[in-house]
Amino acid sequence: MTLMTVRGPIEAEAMGQVLLHEHVRVAFPGWDLEAKSRLKPRDEEISTSVERMEQLLAHGVRTFVDPCPMELGRDVTLLRAISEQSGMNIVCSTGFYYEEDGQGIPFYWRTRWPEEVAELYLREITEGVGDTGIRPGVIKASTSNPVGRHDRKMLVAAGLASRESGLPIITHTTHSGGVMDQIQAFDAAGLDPSRCLIGHQDQQEDYALLLEIVRRDFFVGFDRIGMNRQVPDAHRADLVVRLIDDGFQHRIALSQDHMCYDPHPRPLYWIPRDREEEIMTQIHPVHEWEIAGRPHTHLMTDFFPLLRERGVSDEQIVSIMTDNPRRFLLGA
Ligand SMILES: [Zn+2]
Repeated sequence: MTLMTVRGPIEAEAMGQVLLHEHVRVAFPGWDLEAKSRLKPRDEEISTSVERMEQLLAHGVRTFVDPCPMELGRDVTLLRAISEQSGMNIVCSTGFYYEEDGQGIPFYWRTRWPEEVAELYLREITEGVGDTGIRPGVIKASTSNPVGRHDRKMLVAAGLASRESGLPIITHTTHSGGVMDQIQAFDAAGLDPSRCLIGHQDQQEDYALLLEIVRRDFFVGFDRIGMNRQVPDAHRADLVVRLIDDGFQHRIALSQDHMCYDPHPRPLYWIPRDREEEIMTQIHPVHEWEIAGRPHTHLMTDFFPLLRERGVSDEQIVSIMTDNPRRFLLGA
């Protein structure tokens, strides 16, 4: 078994430690309509990202999975350039984002059957994205909270494409919701649960639901590490340790959903005029730091110590970062 990267297939031995859910960048639909002068120049996008990759390589990470949905500014030639210059193995994905607030799923594809969407995913998987020849190594599936009707179609489409191609699925859940909807869709598609990662469970308050995920052999993602405004890292560490103690170390995925830079020239949310100053001086800088500003090595420098404090050994951490992603990505 090999893993498809933006520079072609690699063997398991070349994978090193793996981050299963990170981004070079995520850009919301319409961002590219901004004046050119407001957008980051490509050479700067590349150099900033190469620096991040070099920092990760120094920590033993050799593979960076970027499950950016296709309509969220995915740019596979950018990923290839960063991979070539840094030596990092980068994996791109096919698949759409979620429907809420029009954040994802362009109108044309909302009017398609799941089989037609799966045909699009499979064309990318077999022939490459557009005319680049660059092939995805994972499928992205995303849901709103509560899960919407278009989200459900896209879960079916991802299931069809995964069954046909054998590629694993990485999911986005919104505020950790929609777990059972995702599980049921993938079960209905007849997928091997150990090739499906139920993502963004960082905010999960119901431990029974986490057990439901891992007991059924799905992977569970604590993959927004460092987003302390959402939930403190200590909460994540507690959940990880509890799952390890219950015998599910082999089902855990750790990652950060962090960007190498934020490509949006303006904030990604509505700002009431009377709160502009407060938001821009107090809230926005923290938000920027947590989504893109701090380095991708936060996991190693700030989160692993929380696990060690709770009795997790270095050997266990390395196993979570190497053995788990290999089994998930390669199915072996
Ligand atoms: Zn993400």
